[in-house]
Amino acid sequence: MHGIRNVAVLEKGYIGGGNTGRNTTLVRSNYRQKPLHDFFEFGLKMWEQLSDELNYNVMFSPRGAMFLGHSDSDMIKLAERGDAMRASGIDVELLTREQVAKIEPLLDMSRGARFPIVGGLTQRRGGTARHDAVAWGYARAADRLGVDIIQKCEVTGFVRDGDAVIGVETTRGRIGAGRVGICVAGHSGHVAAMAGLKLPIESQTLQALVTEGVKPMVKSVVMSQSLHCYISQSDKGGIVMGGDPDNWPSYAQRGNPMVTHFAIANAIALIPALSRLRMLRTWAGVTDMSFDGSPIIGTTPVPNLYLNGGWCYGGFKATPASGYTYAHTLATGAPHSLNAPFVLDRFVQGATIDENGSGPMPNSR
Ligand SMILES: Cc1cc2nc3c(=O)[nH]c(=O)nc-3n(C[C@H](O)[C@H](O)[C@H](O)COP(=O)(O)OP(=O)(O)OC[C@H]3O[C@@H](n4cnc5c(N)ncnc54)[C@H](O)[C@@H]3O)c2cc1C
Repeated sequence: MHGIRNVAVLEKGYIGGGNTGRNTTLVRSNYRQKPLHDFFEFGLKMWEQLSDELNYNVMFSPRGAMFLGHSDSDMIKLAERGDAMRASGIDVELLTREQVAKIEPLLDMSRGARFPIVGGLTQRRGGTARHDAVAWGYARAADRLGVDIIQKCEVTGFVRDGDAVIGVETTRGRIGAGRVGICVAGHSGHVAAMAGLKLPIESQTLQALVTEGVKPMVKSVVMSQSLHCYISQSDKGGIVMGGDPDNWPSYAQRGNPMVTHFAIANAIALIPALSRLRMLRTWAGVTDMSFDGSPIIGTTPVPNLYLNGGWCYGGFKATPASGYTYAHTLATGAPHSLNAPFVLDRFVQGATIDENGSGPMPNSR
């Protein structure tokens, strides 16, 4: 698109082995603030065309992404979010408890439910996509355009000419480059530090789990901010659940039973029938938590060095918009209008975009 062909993607492990292949595959644009609405809605429209564009089935499944409301105050917050989305031109529906029950008949809607459900907010065009297919589809399309994808190649340092970055040192040798883009999720702080940058990002472990496969029982993506949990059913039939990140910084790519226990207990309180299922596996990834809950895409104070990170627990859904705007930024040396609000400099200028709590886990970044 920008006419640039001499591009190399360096990956210390294998393509899709990071958070891209570890997430719970939720795709939506139901954020709270205008810059994120514009960015994620642009991305959602790209998701709708992505299988055609890549000529690879990414199994995008717009089954609806529904937040549950458990109290009057929850419903006020959901109504505010819905109003803000509509003001940005994004369709969304505030639901009564009867409408929620119709979408998900297995939710515990009884008056005696441990966490009563009084309504919801759904974005029907939201849903899921198969994460590893997204990685493979993009890799194949990039390869076809002449991009070199070099796996098992860890960046260990930056080559400098004065202040400017002019290449990278890797475990497979030195590679010269006119521009270098960092895009390493939970390792953003570690890699940026090699160039002398200290980022407003902390690395935290986020985990998820999946049960054995069963016949269709959860139709949409069900999220509860009050309970810090979310539930969906994979195309293979497994019930996928997630909860809070660990509340301490870590590079450990593994979860812990306490968080799993919390997520399962809350999911069962919402859908009691889940208690009959056996857990198949749990896993975790190291997420890059920015201090305002919004991503960072743009230039850095180091000439020729660019940054894409700070995705917290929500960067999978960003994949098309993130790639599109980062490519624009790397090619032109300046942000696209969609990522202009998300530059690193916002933390210096006091122009942070506070989206903490825009996902299912309100108290975490
Ligand atoms: C359990 C879990 C559930 C999630 N659920 C969702 C969800 O439902 N929806 C959503 O939108 N987001 C979700 N996310 C977040 C999402 O997965 C991430 O934000 C997104 O995948 C980040 O993509 P990325 O390409 O920036 O990072 P990654 O896919 O992690 O890729 C970064 C790569 O950089 C490589 N790397 C690191 N250091 C170096 C180095 N020195 N040299 C070379 N390579 C290096 C790593 O090996 C890695 O493969 C979830 C994350 C987790 C962990």
